[in-house]
Amino acid sequence: MFNFEHQTSINPKKENKKEKQSKEMDAEVVMVPYPAQGHINPAAALAESLTLHGLRVTLTTTISLSKTATFHHTSITIHPLSDGHEQVTQPETVEAYFARLKANLSRSLAAFLDECSQVKAVIYDSVMPWVLDIAHQRGLLGATFFALPCSVTAVYYHLRQGLLRFPYDQDSTVNLPALPPLRPHHLPSFARLDEPRFGVDLIGQQFDNLQRADWIFFNSFHTLESQVLDWMARLWPVKTIGPTYLILQKSKGLVSNHIINLFDPKQDEACRKWLDAKGSGSVVYVSFGSLACLRKEQMEELAHGLAMSNCPFLWVVRASEMDKIKNLDLEKGLIVEWCHQPQVLAHRAVACFLSHCGWNSTLEALSHGVPLVAMAQQYDQPINAMFVEDVWGFGIGVKAGEDGIVGREEIAMRIKQVVEGDEGIELKKNASKWKSLAHEAVEQGGTSATNIDEFVSALRKIE
Ligand code: UDP
Repeated sequence: MFNFEHQTSINPKKENKKEKQSKEMDAEVVMVPYPAQGHINPAAALAESLTLHGLRVTLTTTISLSKTATFHHTSITIHPLSDGHEQVTQPETVEAYFARLKANLSRSLAAFLDECSQVKAVIYDSVMPWVLDIAHQRGLLGATFFALPCSVTAVYYHLRQGLLRFPYDQDSTVNLPALPPLRPHHLPSFARLDEPRFGVDLIGQQFDNLQRADWIFFNSFHTLESQVLDWMARLWPVKTIGPTYLILQKSKGLVSNHIINLFDPKQDEACRKWLDAKGSGSVVYVSFGSLACLRKEQMEELAHGLAMSNCPFLWVVRASEMDKIKNLDLEKGLIVEWCHQPQVLAHRAVACFLSHCGWNSTLEALSHGVPLVAMAQQYDQPINAMFVEDVWGFGIGVKAGEDGIVGREEIAMRIKQVVEGDEGIELKKNASKWKSLAHEAVEQGGTSATNIDEFVSALRKIE
């Protein structure tokens, strides 16, 4: 879900300046998510659930994002900081983007924290490890938040330690501590030798100061990743506190993780009505998240595969991708630019989720007991997809042809397997099992809920 791209934005909402400042000054926890939808959602859910414990929480965004985002009613305070985007006049390289983000956000975050008198801790996204020093220099505690599974983080750690030795033979098996055997195509594409080293360095940096972080949080839960967690616990005092989305849902009765929307789910009503008119367990929900861009040929195969499956489908095609499906036969489906994904997954009509296996989507599917057809694209997604299929057993992966395209027959067959076949019954059973375990983790006394309670108690003890 972490990406090497970035998103642009527009006008922050007007608020009474004095009122806003006093609220912010009062914050006891400042959260600093990486500015992308897949990182903001779990961080905002965590921030909101901390307010349910009586903590005052400010979540930072960037000025540029806050200009286009829509904000929903929330108990947290949102504070835009400059990431220097205002001065950008030319397209930037990925390296230039991250350098600018670090330089500008460091400065504006430091200035903001200097104005706050009550802050005790800063929770920051693990891909911005430099925030820890800014917190510590001000005598504040620093908690790193991994919006990724522990298993993927373990692979990244082994990569940093030099345990991955590219190039791998296509048929080889990669054995790493505490992980099931991996195939070369599961490994992060940015780690291949023919890719620039930038991605590896950037990902690697999150381990450099991990020993100094006061807390290490994962948006995951113990039973889901117990083996790798036990291994990890020998290195660092990691705490699982997820699914953060589910904590919020359970405590607030909300089926929502949309505190800050970078995309507009403006067809929500149409979506709901369309789903209401469908039979229980009949619909395939299709989404590739906020970043993935599929090739035009792949979109065409997908459209044909969906038609051949004979299932009604709800397909999220972001506005920037819409051109790729022009002139295709999409009669059986509803196409929307963005939807309220958790609400869709909670709908009785949804039988399966054809997903890129971004970590939030995976957790959201699991939290609703919805089985997956896993069609991973990049970054952490191939590992997530492998776990979904081989370890957690609540989904089936699709196989791409030699050209990297997943054909229409393959897509239709996998959908039918999940929706109609005997295998589908087993997948659904496993999805329900993980749903129960996820709910257990976030209920009072559950592993994730207890870890959050301990964090809150520790903060309360600080004068
Ligand atoms: N999402 C959504 N509506 C959509 C598609 C996605 O609300 O139409 C949300 C989804 O619920 C999830 C996030 O966007 O919380 C996507 O995160 P994920 O980690 O799955 O993928 P990424 O976008 O980071 O690749």
